[in-house]
Amino acid sequence: MHLSPFKYFGPTTLSEFFEIIAQCGRDEYAVMAGGTDTLVKIRQRLIRPSTVVSLNAISELNSIVHEGDDVTIGAGTPLYRISESPLVRKYLPALSQAAGRVASPQIRQMGTIGGNICLDTRCLYYNQPESSFSFPPCFKRGGKICHVVKNADRCYALFCADTPPALLSLAARLVVADASGRKEIPMDEFYRDDGLSCRRLGNRELLVAVKIKLEARAAGSYLRFSLLGAIEFPLVGVALCLPQVPDGSPHEIRMAATGVQSRPLRLHAAENFLNNKNLKDPQSLNGLMAELRQIQIVRHQNILPSYKRELLKVLIERNIRHCTRKGGDPDEAAG
Ligand SMILES: Cc1cc2nc3c(=O)[nH]c(=O)nc-3n(C[C@H](O)[C@H](O)[C@H](O)COP(=O)(O)OP(=O)(O)OC[C@H]3O[C@@H](n4cnc5c(N)ncnc54)[C@H](O)[C@@H]3O)c2cc1C
Ligand code: SF4
Repeated sequence: MHLSPFKYFGPTTLSEFFEIIAQCGRDEYAVMAGGTDTLVKIRQRLIRPSTVVSLNAISELNSIVHEGDDVTIGAGTPLYRISESPLVRKYLPALSQAAGRVASPQIRQMGTIGGNICLDTRCLYYNQPESSFSFPPCFKRGGKICHVVKNADRCYALFCADTPPALLSLAARLVVADASGRKEIPMDEFYRDDGLSCRRLGNRELLVAVKIKLEARAAGSYLRFSLLGAIEFPLVGVALCLPQVPDGSPHEIRMAATGVQSRPLRLHAAENFLNNKNLKDPQSLNGLMAELRQIQIVRHQNILPSYKRELLKVLIERNIRHCTRKGGDPDEAAG
């Protein structure tokens, strides 16, 4: 299937970018970073932008800068650069591991962290060439039904990107810009549980960077499970960050998951359950499943919610083992 024709712009500065989109109608244009998802959707006729505005030539967006306590990663930074950065590997292992697990080396060369954070939700009834649709349109295709949840009043497509749970566990902040200026949004407030539109990003807004505070002696890890070992989105992925107080005891664990709802999910109930427990004692995890049962999970592609909860539990346990192992090598944790 060929790409349908569109006008292409490649601005080199952010102000040029905002000038270009100001001249486009609301739904006429698509923002493209690496294009590893956008071009697939155009080819499958899932979206039909008349204009594509590429972020590739805006050099300001491609950077990893360490200043004071903060690391700032430009939204256009390719995933391979993040996974291989010595700074990210040393201080933000969960992010390095998550970026290094996306798809394949070729896709990580093109795909950016901004595109990963802003990745659309996915569903078997949507992510396929338009020509192969043999069923009535669902919410995501402009209809009024859902083929996954009977009598649903919204779309339950799944958020499956790898880096957002790692960024949630690192309490990252997102820098969002429009033509008039910039603002910072805590990662925790960026998403909503809605398969149609899971990001709180205005039509004329652009994600320009991610900021992460470096926490001295924090341990972190990201692990995921997918049905095929090859190039595939995760069925479930879990990131964990375990900051340490000066006396060496861990406190305020932060965890987040992908593949369970229409947004990356902070696992608050499980965090509260684990906080102030001796995590090196396997008995301390008894009762974790009761907390995970509170999470609403919808059955997609015949994968039972109980199976995903079991995966969540196993991935949390393994992440904890990696993070509490003395001098744990982050690379060993990459599952
Ligand atoms: C075969 C295959 C396997 C894949 N496997 C995985 C996987 O295992 N894990 C995973 O996480 N992803 C996977 N992906 C999806 C995708 O490749 C990655 O998520 C990648 O990081 C997307 O980045 P990109 O720069 O290519 O995004 P694009 O395709 O350029 O953009 C994706 C979306 O983000 C928006 N966007 C991009 N940058 C910005 C910005 N700065 N501000 C606002 N909006 C923006 C675009 O408008 C678009 O809606 C896979 C894709 C393919 C084709
Ligand atoms: S979850 Fe339902 S509405 Fe959303 S894409 Fe799938 S079938 Fe369509």
